Amino acid sequence: AQQFIWPIIRLGDVVDDYERAKTAGRRVDELLARSPTVADSATASDLTVSEGAVAFDAVTFAYGEDAVLHDIDVAVAGGTTVGVVGPTGAGKSTLLKLLPRLYDADEGTVSIDGQNVREVRLQSLRSAIGYVSQDPFLFYGTVAENIRYGTFDATDAEIEAAAERAQAGEFIRNLPDGFDTMVGERGVKLSGGQRQRLAIARTMLKDPDLLILDEATSAVDTETEALIQASLQEFAADRTTFVIAHRLSTIRNADRVLVLDDGRVVEDGTHTGLLQADELYANLWRVQVGDIQSLPKAFLERARE
Ligand code: ADP
Repeated sequence: AQQFIWPIIRLGDVVDDYERAKTAGRRVDELLARSPTVADSATASDLTVSEGAVAFDAVTFAYGEDAVLHDIDVAVAGGTTVGVVGPTGAGKSTLLKLLPRLYDADEGTVSIDGQNVREVRLQSLRSAIGYVSQDPFLFYGTVAENIRYGTFDATDAEIEAAAERAQAGEFIRNLPDGFDTMVGERGVKLSGGQRQRLAIARTMLKDPDLLILDEATSAVDTETEALIQASLQEFAADRTTFVIAHRLSTIRNADRVLVLDDGRVVEDGTHTGLLQADELYANLWRVQVGDIQSLPKAFLERARE
């Protein structure tokens, strides 16, 4: 039954063409290398992170005509791990892209420890945030250089330790030249899961105050995923972390879960609390555990649209 329902639920879950197009060039650190579409304000000062508290206040955003986020009000205490879930197209990725200013909100403010992200220097903002996207790109260079990017003073030992924490050590050692193997466009082809692990290693080395994981382990096998999840959980423990997840099992232990639907936060609670509430989250959970029989008709009809 689960195999039957998944294709229906994921129908609209196609590859993010916009992202692909934008990253066709050489992208390195997911944030630092982005050519800024936004600029520093004349009075910008450096971001200083103390608690790592994040607030979205009355945030509205549209890519074109139609708003993708409507009046989002969310305050997150520093150090919290927040799972962000909801149907494809709900606005999860968009919401989190406002934090490192990959886009600016049309209305409302996004702030970190009370500092409006539009009023801090972009470089300081993006240095404070680790962002692991679904499809990280590597540049043409060695494995070690790819991990070191953004943390240029890292020693070889630190790079290797980061690779181990990201469950990447073993496959790297099996590459023709280990950490000196050339990867990226003209180098050795790595699988999606291997690229993800290098991006995770890079982020762990960067040691950011805030962390955004966008389906960060979607491309690896179940066993590797469990290992990466364990080290990501440890890594996330003392920093504010947002995890966008399709597989709800990955955010089961989150301190808090935000459920987005059609650009709005429709539920906000813990895994257990949201199961009790028996609304959208509970239905998404039923799908994941294969409990299709007890899904309400209205939910199934919507999923088929
Ligand atoms: P989610 O992460 O929940 O799947 P997204 O934030 O990726 O949702 O997308 C929310 C909506 O915005 C969708 O309708 C999507 O098609 C649209 N969208 C996402 N990125 C872009 C973009 N760069 N340009 C135009 N529309 C976009």
